[in-house]
Amino acid sequence: YNVPVATNEPIYSYAPGSTERAELQATIKKMRSEEIDVPMYIGSEEVRTGDKRSMNPPHDHKHVLGYYHQGGQKHVQMAIDAAMAAKPAWENLAWEHRASIFLKAAELISGPYRMKLNAATMLGQSKNAFQAEIDAACEIADFLRFNVGYMTEIYNQQPKSSKGIWNRLEQRPLEGFIFALTPFNFTAIAGNLPSAPAMMGNTVVWKPSKTAVYSARVLMEIFKKAGVPDGVINLVYVSGPDAAEVIFNSPDFAGIHYTGSTAVFQNIWKTIGNNIHKYKTYPRIVGETGGKDYIFMHPSANSKEVATAITRGSFEFQGQKCSAASRAYIPASKWDKVLKYVQEDLAKIKTGGTEDFTNFHNAVIDETSFDKLAKAIDEAKASPDAEIVAGGTYDKSVGYFIHPTVIRAKKADYTSMVEELFGPIMTIFVYDDEKVDETLEILDKTSMYALTGGIFANDRYAIDKLMKRLVNTAGNFYINDKPTGAVVGQQPFGGSRGSGTNDKAGSMINLLRWVSPRTIKETF
Ligand code: GLU
Repeated sequence: YNVPVATNEPIYSYAPGSTERAELQATIKKMRSEEIDVPMYIGSEEVRTGDKRSMNPPHDHKHVLGYYHQGGQKHVQMAIDAAMAAKPAWENLAWEHRASIFLKAAELISGPYRMKLNAATMLGQSKNAFQAEIDAACEIADFLRFNVGYMTEIYNQQPKSSKGIWNRLEQRPLEGFIFALTPFNFTAIAGNLPSAPAMMGNTVVWKPSKTAVYSARVLMEIFKKAGVPDGVINLVYVSGPDAAEVIFNSPDFAGIHYTGSTAVFQNIWKTIGNNIHKYKTYPRIVGETGGKDYIFMHPSANSKEVATAITRGSFEFQGQKCSAASRAYIPASKWDKVLKYVQEDLAKIKTGGTEDFTNFHNAVIDETSFDKLAKAIDEAKASPDAEIVAGGTYDKSVGYFIHPTVIRAKKADYTSMVEELFGPIMTIFVYDDEKVDETLEILDKTSMYALTGGIFANDRYAIDKLMKRLVNTAGNFYINDKPTGAVVGQQPFGGSRGSGTNDKAGSMINLLRWVSPRTIKETF
């Protein structure tokens, strides 16, 4: 099939004095003062319940960006009904039209909606300009364009036929609706989770994180403008329990596309299991969950490179990436140097809100997250098994600011070496250079998650050994690089163990989960 060849969206740098920078700043200024009113989008309707909840920048939590209308179980049912009503026409539309709609959405993001989508991500989720650019504008455009390419590859794959027999594989959408449950930390994920199943001919009920409604609403505007028909993607703001009660009891529930916490995903899985007899078909369960992503430094590695990987891998976007490095293993012979470089890097980091483009570090998403992280810092201060070697301060008076913090753990199984915190806290275990094997053993044993990991070594035999020994600890494995920043079309993303079903976002593997193939044999 002849679809436009996907290439990665070029990244704007927003350099001082550039027109893009001025445009983005003006958009932010305007959006900060608008106090918008955000309805749910169900079928052809904009639904306003009057139960208004405020949207506040995490870095300036007393400021109101606007209000969204919270719904309840009734609205989830309305969204399911709208999705089921839209389904016959959508799934029978030739795939080229579905492809065209999402390619157009990518163009809208790349052009007229770029600033608005980035600004919503910056104001609502406290990303800096460059982080928002990579996440919102570029990655979502990439997801849409590359997925269109993968879609055509899927439709192209046909079985062999022979004289007198014609075999075909018909890639049908699933029998029912898909539930997309999206997180706050990547606007790109919020865009990908509903659009990937929709592209394959499914209709969707979409519940975004309550801390990322602003950017979800902009994405919805883009989808509508691109021509996604009413009812194909329905956006509702409801509580988790309200959504679960209606969605997982519906006979039409056919699949979930999820990114979020491991605990919630496990509960969802159990609920689906308990209700399995209610469904027409086995629902597809696709989820990307937590991570406790590592950096392992071999004694042959370069200290400066490792320090840079720690600073960028752990602290970009306040460590709120499933992929963020949050534990590291450093050989004793290199520890002093690595720590010195990390401390120097951190001293250069400027903290503050989105509006000032010179800030690198910003607030964490909400008070719950802030309190959890502050508690972990306090525990480290009080523990004989830990020592704070950088940062360790926090302040929520204006925004939820946790300063980049490095904990040195004296035990390899110290709490924050093992449990996910989802914030700007890196915990480091310093190991004896002679004990590489024992340390790898510990790393593997304490990897309840297996999302990303980065190893640093200059010795090729060591690289080979680390790759083999750590084979099950990371779905995305980096050699001499930080474990974050997977690019669509280049590093398909996802992990196993407690990190999810490893159905690689932005790949054919993922799209295949949203179809139910029919094999057709015709005999002449
Ligand atoms: N794809 C992102 C990365 O590689 C992480 C996505 C996530 O946090 O879920 O950094």
